[in-house]
Amino acid sequence: MKFRKFHMFFRKNLMRRESTQPIMGQQNLGSLESVRQRYQTIKHPTMKLVLTVQDQILTSLREFLRKKGFIEILAPIIGPATDPGIRGAKQVTIQYYDTPFKVMSSMILYKQMMISSFDKVFALSPNIRLEPLESAKTGRHLVEFRQIDLEMVHATYNEAMHLAEALLLSVVREVMENCYEELEGLGRDLRELNPPFPRLTHKEAVERLRSKGHVVSYVEEIPWDAEVALSSMHQCAFFIYDYPLVSRGFYDREDPNRPGILRDFDMLYPEGFGEAISGGEREHTYTGVLKRMKLTGIDPAEYEWYLQMLKEGVPHSVGFGIGVERLTRWICGLKTIWEAVPFPKVPGIVSP
Ligand code: ASP
Ligand code: MG
Repeated sequence: MKFRKFHMFFRKNLMRRESTQPIMGQQNLGSLESVRQRYQTIKHPTMKLVLTVQDQILTSLREFLRKKGFIEILAPIIGPATDPGIRGAKQVTIQYYDTPFKVMSSMILYKQMMISSFDKVFALSPNIRLEPLESAKTGRHLVEFRQIDLEMVHATYNEAMHLAEALLLSVVREVMENCYEELEGLGRDLRELNPPFPRLTHKEAVERLRSKGHVVSYVEEIPWDAEVALSSMHQCAFFIYDYPLVSRGFYDREDPNRPGILRDFDMLYPEGFGEAISGGEREHTYTGVLKRMKLTGIDPAEYEWYLQMLKEGVPHSVGFGIGVERLTRWICGLKTIWEAVPFPKVPGIVSP
């Protein structure tokens, strides 16, 4: 009863403000103006609801992983090399005294280092990717984002998909339990997910899209617009697995029994929200990685410490990364990704 009253009061207030009084000159949280004038937007009541849900999401992610035996490590921010598998985005280079350094596009190479010491690790990792300017229009790309990046030793990509599924179920359940007022305030009708989540091979996903008239390739990652279309065909999160060889980073492992196919996956949100997770088993042999670097036109000289580490030997592992802002966006049912982060950096937009 108490909640209903609060909710009606909240709704009324929100509606009154929206119809008559612009909130500090800013109403549309999906607009780019809301990004440029963040010091105003941040006070919007909807923003508070979203960030409260996000706090619960972060707590749930961490608690879930700790219960599964993962330890949290501190992510690197800069280093001599970073993740090249970033779908057409550009890496950022800074001058580190006399040496050019990269700002992490993901900490994948470091996860592989940590796995020599701990069986299961994760980090809340900040990443920078200079996405193409057009991607500002998708409402799904940020230049600066955070992912929960995890890695576990001696496991398969099936086990990783299973873990990803359990992780999402657990986060959704806890948000529904602890943030029902916020979800109501956001008008989000978040349903419990039904496991097991559907799994499509990359080939099956391409076939399904082609049958609906989309132009998609069997040897590349699925383009953003087709991914949205595929995601719109689903009411529950789902996996795409077995990506073709050159479509991903050199670190995703080729299936020894099925040449040309990688033992990797993405998880996608339903309802048109698109990519949630990327992950896979690791190519962890020195010769295997060198071969893959050659195939994808990457200069091994740029990965000196990493190759040296592989030469000395790291264990086989599997891992994935789940973007925190995209998870928040989907859980809260937001139109754009920049509504799911306090200080968004949208491609090409100069903002605080
Ligand atoms: N490096 C991947 C990414 O950032 C995640 C992973 O494969 O673990 O998308
Ligand atoms: Mg990805």
